[in-house]
Amino acid sequence: MGLGERLAEVDARIADAAHAAGRDPRALTRIVVTKFHPASLVDELYRLGVRDVGENRQQELTEKQRELGGRDGLRWHFIGQAQTNKARAIRAAASVVHSVDRARLADALDAAGEGMPRLDVLLQVNLTDDPGRGGVAPEALEELAMHTAACPTLRVRGVMAVAPLGEPPAPAFERLAVCSARLQTIVSDATWISAGMTADFAEAIAAGATHLRIGSAITGPRPARG
Ligand SMILES: *Cc1c(COP(=O)(O)O)cnc(C)c1O
Repeated sequence: MGLGERLAEVDARIADAAHAAGRDPRALTRIVVTKFHPASLVDELYRLGVRDVGENRQQELTEKQRELGGRDGLRWHFIGQAQTNKARAIRAAASVVHSVDRARLADALDAAGEGMPRLDVLLQVNLTDDPGRGGVAPEALEELAMHTAACPTLRVRGVMAVAPLGEPPAPAFERLAVCSARLQTIVSDATWISAGMTADFAEAIAAGATHLRIGSAITGPRPARG
């Protein structure tokens, strides 16, 4: 199966999952995660109509964005753990940052954005019991939301999470939906929910996800990182 066929197949599965959940598939944003793949793959996706792509490493994001920056309407989503000293580079390349999980990172992204249009950000929530995983603890979400909402060059759009390993994804995504509702008591239009990967996007759609981050089901297996 070629790239175009895999893309079409995943989109059909997204539409099926949306209909099964009584949702309109047009309200979902499908982000193709292109990490480890060359810029040429992003270009191929672009020519197939893809406009939202995801990267999880700043350097790779910067290089690919530089190479393909002229593509009209192409949006780069940064979905990886971010170091504060990379905030400027991330901000320069990304349209959306999904992984704001601490006040210091919000501050660094904000400081890097003077004179720029507001940056869309999502607050990443840790759905596991392991504090070493990315994301703010659910009980600290409100505090981070208030802090980030006060950053003048950032716009808080919603929450993001990765389903924990070794646990069914559906209840974890239900917890994320609760986090989303709590966030909206602070930022009322922060309605985005970034959740769902190759293995669990149907469950994420059932739980209200608005932004899906799908890699290998579309791109095929990732090449080894060289
Ligand atoms: C790699 C990655 C994805 C996509 O994973 P697949 O299983 O290939 O769909 C989604 N979200 C994040 C944060 C990732 O790092």
